[in-house]
Amino acid sequence: MEDKKVLLTGGNLLQAHTWKGLLETHTITVELKGEALLGGVGELPVDMQNVELWVNKRDLTQAQSILETHNVERPQWTCVQCHEINHGNFEFCWQCSAQKSE
Ligand SMILES: [Zn+2]
Repeated sequence: MEDKKVLLTGGNLLQAHTWKGLLETHTITVELKGEALLGGVGELPVDMQNVELWVNKRDLTQAQSILETHNVERPQWTCVQCHEINHGNFEFCWQCSAQKSE
């Protein structure tokens, strides 16, 4: 068994699959956790927020740099105006409605 490290948490299932596909094109093995919870349960929301991406420890640094290179949206961002932490899916701060800035 290889050591696994969590690469990202909090993405939704669609994002997680996008990231996974991206990393796999770089021959990095990615394991999604949380996804299995969807099986057979039925009507869970598609924007389920507890998906985690795990990679082998030796791939972690490369995986992080790949995600940065591709400007992958981070699970969370901090509002420049009120410093509230917002989920990555939000384009505007939920608290003060300031636009997300890069
Ligand atoms: Zn704000």
